[in-house]
Amino acid sequence: MPLNKYSRRHKRTFGKKKPEPKVYLEEHRVPPKPTSYYTKMKGRCRFCGVLIRKKDGKTNTRRSWHKDCIDEYTYIYHPSETRKRIYKRDKGQCSGCGIIKPRKSRIHEERWHVDHIKPLWEQKGKKFKEIDLDYWREDNLQTLCTKCHSKKTSKEATLRAKLNKKRLDNDSK
Ligand SMILES: [Zn+2]
Ligand SMILES: [Zn+2]
Repeated sequence: MPLNKYSRRHKRTFGKKKPEPKVYLEEHRVPPKPTSYYTKMKGRCRFCGVLIRKKDGKTNTRRSWHKDCIDEYTYIYHPSETRKRIYKRDKGQCSGCGIIKPRKSRIHEERWHVDHIKPLWEQKGKKFKEIDLDYWREDNLQTLCTKCHSKKTSKEATLRAKLNKKRLDNDSK
């Protein structure tokens, strides 16, 4: 679904209560939202929490997003938008093997993934204040074909298992 800057979706969520718990990435691939997202006050940005000012310096009480902030928010929190932008940037070319994939395909082998170069699990369980949003930014994203993606994922799984084991060993010492 295309999101325009002040779409109904954002209006519908305005003033919503912040859910508990505040940690994330148990299931979701998007970061937890900043406390300011749950503001009940117009004129304050839901992403960065800073007042939105008009040219004359007065608070703009009709808005609840800075223009740049909503772009960034949309990019980070709506994976379908992220996909669109990454396709535009990479034109479907896999960063691993260079093969070119179509934007959409029903065939599994023809699919491509938006891969987080530094893997998201490194951010797992963190609250908004602790997370590094760069993990969701363009520089950390690449196109990978299904093959290259599963290669990378299994490599990471091995690494992760090693790290976990290390941690357990340390804990038992
Ligand atoms: Zn802002
Ligand atoms: Zn590939």
